[in-house]
Amino acid sequence: MTPSADLTDGFHFVVDALQANDIDTIYGLVGIPITDLARVAQARGMRFIGFRQETSAGNAAAAAGFLTGRPGVCLTPSGPGFLNGLPALANATTNCFPMIQISGSSNRALVDLQRGDYQDLDQLNAARPFAKAAFRVDRVEDIGLAVARAIRTAASGRPGGVYLDIPGAVLGQALAAGAAAAGVWRVVDPAPRQLPAPEAVDRALDVVAQARRPLIVLGKGAAYARADAEIRDFVEASGIPFLPMSMAKGLLPDSHRQSVAAARSLAIGRADAVLLVGARLNWLLGHGDSPQWSPDAKFAQVDIAASEFDSNQPIAAPLAGDITSVVAALRAGLATRPVDVPREWIDELADRRATNDAKMRQRLAENPHPMRFYNALGAIRSVLQSNPDVYVVNEGANALDLARNVIDMELPRHRLDTGTWGVMGIGMGYAIAAAVETGKPVVAIEGDSAFGFSGMEVETICRYRLPVTVVILNNGGVYRGDEKPTGARPAPTVLNAASRHELIAEAFGGKGYHVSTPDELRAALTESLASNGPSVIDCALDPAAGVESGHLAGLNPTSTATPVSAGG
Ligand code: ADP
Repeated sequence: MTPSADLTDGFHFVVDALQANDIDTIYGLVGIPITDLARVAQARGMRFIGFRQETSAGNAAAAAGFLTGRPGVCLTPSGPGFLNGLPALANATTNCFPMIQISGSSNRALVDLQRGDYQDLDQLNAARPFAKAAFRVDRVEDIGLAVARAIRTAASGRPGGVYLDIPGAVLGQALAAGAAAAGVWRVVDPAPRQLPAPEAVDRALDVVAQARRPLIVLGKGAAYARADAEIRDFVEASGIPFLPMSMAKGLLPDSHRQSVAAARSLAIGRADAVLLVGARLNWLLGHGDSPQWSPDAKFAQVDIAASEFDSNQPIAAPLAGDITSVVAALRAGLATRPVDVPREWIDELADRRATNDAKMRQRLAENPHPMRFYNALGAIRSVLQSNPDVYVVNEGANALDLARNVIDMELPRHRLDTGTWGVMGIGMGYAIAAAVETGKPVVAIEGDSAFGFSGMEVETICRYRLPVTVVILNNGGVYRGDEKPTGARPAPTVLNAASRHELIAEAFGGKGYHVSTPDELRAALTESLASNGPSVIDCALDPAAGVESGHLAGLNPTSTATPVSAGG
């Protein structure tokens, strides 16, 4: 494993190339042919975080990319292990998170002639449709170049997932230490600034300045861009109300007086000029269509990917560039093109916000037995209000939809959730990365079904003694747990409402809590945060709490045929 003075090998070369680019952590799972890569990385001072399944390792790398702005690295073995990493790579690409999946692969000569090698698979081509780019290293001397190319591709422009295939034979190949040292390549300015055209800035300011009801929508691209100061400055100087998408919550505090998160449907239903900043006009925003949006709404859009413009609605003012540069230019442009937001619009939104806030307070104050989503989330909210620096991970159906509204965020990039795909299974991977990358406490708010997708990673959380508290809102089902079966077997949506998920933590040396009232939940969460260690809190909810598909019921076709009889 230790190279001689004159010789090194592919394993060491990969680690040297990553370290030269300030990558200090690998999320992965060992196996043929990359086990020694993990060992060498650790021996050279990198953090290797070993998972129980590759998808969670990949999700952790993706979250690390979002949180740090540098590509997160995931390491997978060949064949099925590689395939397990792919959903995470695809999800990172969909969410525009920079990530690199490095995978060992089998003998090329055997794979290409389909001679039946151990875990043989044409991994490069399998990865291509799911990644921003896919590369293979065929010669050991190219490793430095390949790592540089992967970093550049993942981080620049619209960030995404890059697949880097390294056959086992290349990893084990020796080369002169001098050649490897000369081949290590440090990427200069991996995500260069891209300044907007001045006329594009003026056009966008004209659109919002002429509006009666302007609105800014902040998306997770804005959070990723780390343009926190520029965005605050522009929002406050323009006086335009803003709506954060879920992972942009906290970019400006949810308590900010210009936030219209609590008047969302009114804001998007009435706005006549919308400035999208790092947010796509995809399904999460109803594609910009009426009646959700006003038919006379004009859109301006800030995005680093110009191909995003006009993807759903005509973009009256496209602003291609990086968010930091564009928003700074918009702010400077206010000097000559001031925006004066009409008082009636501000008042209309403020009234709706006050009404909705009052409704929310009332819901949170109720105390039914058994507990329901709002009451559990009210308890979590009160604890997190006193701990604003806690990172929040959130997945589920009702657990996601309701937590997004109930849990306010005060700090940027502190909320990670199911994102653009609405994917389940990101929970533990994201939580582990948040704890590893920031060293801060993490609370993962999980539906019981969602937790099941990555639940075994509680062992990983316990093994590394990470400050992660997993709160499981357990209503005993997918959506809800009270569907009556049509035969002897449980209904398709039903799980076991009597499950004691907290025992998983205890099995691995963490702390488990079982709670059935908001007071118990508040006490357990306060204690687990203070412990700074791993915990799982199982919250027994009413199995009748929750609605099918959460807020997405409209996307779920229902059968119109006569129900099939429940046989056998
Ligand atoms: P949300 O789901 O929060 O609405 P999306 O993921 O749909 O957000 O949109 C994020 C957008 O931000 C993407 O279109 C992406 O190209 C863009 N983006 C990411 N980073 C930057 C950046 N630094 N500058 C400009 N645009 C960016």
